[in-house]
Amino acid sequence: MPILIAGAGIGGLTLALSLHERGIPCIVLEQSAEVRPLGVGINTLPHAIKELADLGLLPALDQVGIRTRELIYLNRFGQEVWREPRGMFAGHPVPQFSIHRGYLQGVLWQAVRERLPPDAVRTGHRLADFKQTARGVTARFTNRTGATVAELGGRALIAADGIHSTARAKLHPDDPGIRWQGIMMWRGAVERKPYLDGETMVIAGDMNEKLVLYPIARAPRGRRLTNWVVCIKSGDGGAPPPNREDWSRVGQRGAIMPTVRRFDLPFLNLENLVRATPEFFEYPMCDRDPLPWWTQGRVTLLGDAAHPMYPVGSNGASQAILDARLLARLLAEGDAASALAAYEAERLPKTAEIVRLNRLGGPERMVDAVSARAPNGFTNLSDVISREELAAINAGYASSAGFARPGGNS
Ligand SMILES: Cc1cc2nc3c(=O)[nH]c(=O)nc-3n(C[C@H](O)[C@H](O)[C@H](O)COP(=O)(O)OP(=O)(O)OC[C@H]3O[C@@H](n4cnc5c(N)ncnc54)[C@H](O)[C@@H]3O)c2cc1C
Repeated sequence: MPILIAGAGIGGLTLALSLHERGIPCIVLEQSAEVRPLGVGINTLPHAIKELADLGLLPALDQVGIRTRELIYLNRFGQEVWREPRGMFAGHPVPQFSIHRGYLQGVLWQAVRERLPPDAVRTGHRLADFKQTARGVTARFTNRTGATVAELGGRALIAADGIHSTARAKLHPDDPGIRWQGIMMWRGAVERKPYLDGETMVIAGDMNEKLVLYPIARAPRGRRLTNWVVCIKSGDGGAPPPNREDWSRVGQRGAIMPTVRRFDLPFLNLENLVRATPEFFEYPMCDRDPLPWWTQGRVTLLGDAAHPMYPVGSNGASQAILDARLLARLLAEGDAASALAAYEAERLPKTAEIVRLNRLGGPERMVDAVSARAPNGFTNLSDVISREELAAINAGYASSAGFARPGGNS
């Protein structure tokens, strides 16, 4: 019997490729009628890229992404707080990629279509329900109208169905749901001439108003598709987000321009960048509480279904990839129930720790700390914070997220 995978996102597709690599049959079932390049930019860390390189995907990633060279932290006046090389430029054997989420999904999707049999991928199939038997799992899938389109038997069911996971809701009916600390994000991408060296990520501002900026693809005439994220703390998180979290909700320029104008970057006019972006998206920065368990017999959760986290520290897609690769290795070694239990034992504590660290700001706590102590900027950074304190924040996160270099930072 095949392994059933619900969700053709980053995690589900990586799992399908990894199972196929080990000769394990699987079927991917995706709720959308087609896989389109949705979303904007994400970063994928070297430990996850190493796994995709092992799947032979490095050349395809190079076609559509940017090898991140450096990460610079600034205050909102453009004063430098921290700078570090990334990926191969920091000594890792493989790069970090800044990439359009839809292009990354596209690389995985293309590989799945090329490598797996045609009936191993089924779109328009939404996981609705499942039940376990002595020998396996039976899962029911519906179409957009809610009509049942398939009932399939599998050796196991892996729910990689994202932050609103159906399987998670069924396994944990008392899960308190989406958590929000009051930060809204607006995310867009637009082609422009490169800023700095065209391969550098910038994080500026503080907990109340933050900017994240990075190029995610090469564009004609030497330009870069440049991703930007403006984060504004607009509530204390005591109430639910103003709009339900939906990756495709279009944002309004008026909501962010006052914040945008408060940023003063020496290398880029942020206001012009935002004005040049025809359409951008609004999304509340949200996660869910870490779960006590993910696995029930032959059913488990993977990626955002298991551990949705704040998008700080470049870990959302990276951790989904690591989940998928480990699970495939374990499924190749033994029976499904034992493999799922071993997967959870290894991955749940690690990802729960990242969820918790991201709530505190992840590595971005470096700029938060500087801004809190010197809200109007500084003359000497060393009067505000020591290099050792900055390094400790940074190294602590890299080590917890599993991507520290031996003897160095990320
Ligand atoms: C449309 C979209 C846009 C996104 N854009 C961004 C972005 O711009 N920046 C960012 O940092 N993160 C974005 N994310 C989230 C990011 O992809 C994940 O945080 C991360 O990659 C982990 O991937 P995942 O595979 O666990 O989940 P996801 O990438 O969210 O994939 C989940 C997949 O499951 C499918 N699905 C959901 N419910 C069911 C069901 N019941 N049955 C079958 N299939 C189902 C979804 O359609 C989706 O294809 C986006 C996610 C989506 C779905």
